[in-house]
Amino acid sequence: MSARSANADAGESGLKIVDGFDLEADVRALLKPAQLVEDKEGRRHRLPRYFYEVPSHQAGTEIRLTPHFGLNEFLLVDLKEAARLRQYPRYIPCAVRVLAFYLERIRDAVGAHVHLAVNGGYRSPSHKLAVGASPHMWATAADLYKIGSTVLRERASIETYNRVAEEISDDLWIMPYGHELGQADDHIHLDLGYLTVVPREITEDAFEAPQAKPRFAFEERRSGDRRGWPTPPDLTQLTFDNRPKD
Ligand SMILES: [Zn+2]
Repeated sequence: MSARSANADAGESGLKIVDGFDLEADVRALLKPAQLVEDKEGRRHRLPRYFYEVPSHQAGTEIRLTPHFGLNEFLLVDLKEAARLRQYPRYIPCAVRVLAFYLERIRDAVGAHVHLAVNGGYRSPSHKLAVGASPHMWATAADLYKIGSTVLRERASIETYNRVAEEISDDLWIMPYGHELGQADDHIHLDLGYLTVVPREITEDAFEAPQAKPRFAFEERRSGDRRGWPTPPDLTQLTFDNRPKD
């Protein structure tokens, strides 16, 4: 399937956004949109309500969130994820695009591929590893197991790349190296906290109930097609005639 025909499947305007309250009952029961969950410290956080709908495995492979991160990389799960949520269409909180933006910055900084682990991207609240609130349930956390050809299993490599990530932004929290609970010794965990995204294209009205029609929206394409379906930039259109003269 070409990018052009795949684009037609996804809607010409870009990714389909759905209100979690409007999903089929079995999917909604597993995703628990806007429900409160407690973290290990007893603080409560409200789960995301708005999701991108991923129509097929092929679509997940072709949809780029940033130049180097495809949507499918955040959907890698094994049998620990609820069976129904491993079937297409699949759903992922819209904040994943913000996570991808930060991972792209890290990729720029290290100049090498950044590899997410299986179960290291989005984990639904029904995932077996989802014990208490974790930003993985918001699609704002990533577990990295490899950067370039370096498998992250040792203090030196993990702490080196942890420092790189810390330098990117104070928005990122990076789990310290160590063998205790709340530490990591065989991957890098980084997250943006309990960040939710309300896409500008969707209407917010009733809370705890489905919103008025239309009950979904298509995300408008952003400049440069950095998101949605891959379209190579047309560099022949670049002109430098408008540069300020100084
Ligand atoms: Zn993690």
